[in-house]
Amino acid sequence: MGIVADKIRELMKKLILLLITLTTFTHVSYASFPVSDTLKVKQDTVQTETVAQYHLRMQKMGFDIDDCRCDDCKKFKGINNIPKNGEPVQKKKTNYKSLFATLGIWLVVAAVVFAIWLIWWIARGLENFGNGPSVIT
Ligand SMILES: [Zn+2]
Repeated sequence: MGIVADKIRELMKKLILLLITLTTFTHVSYASFPVSDTLKVKQDTVQTETVAQYHLRMQKMGFDIDDCRCDDCKKFKGINNIPKNGEPVQKKKTNYKSLFATLGIWLVVAAVVFAIWLIWWIARGLENFGNGPSVIT
């Protein structure tokens, strides 16, 4: 067989490996909407726990929690409602961003698949060119 075809075949193997790695990485890092939401909820839970722990510590130290000026207490008392209104907009923006990211990744994957197919097609053509027109594989 031709040396060029062998080299292209080796390149194809590397590309396929890269594609598999990319796909796996994509599935791990960029997730679809439900997982992204779960991550957000997790973050909120951690934040609430931290605030609760902070309040417990303050109470143990002898501070009056009614005088607390932290964001959670402000929200609870109804002094500052801006974060409540700003959160849904930010969530919507994040969802659109992740949608475009997922779409872009799949576009890249489709382009890589097409490129591999093209290289394979060219390699086959070169092989047939080297062997002559009568060979059918
Ligand atoms: Zn507080």
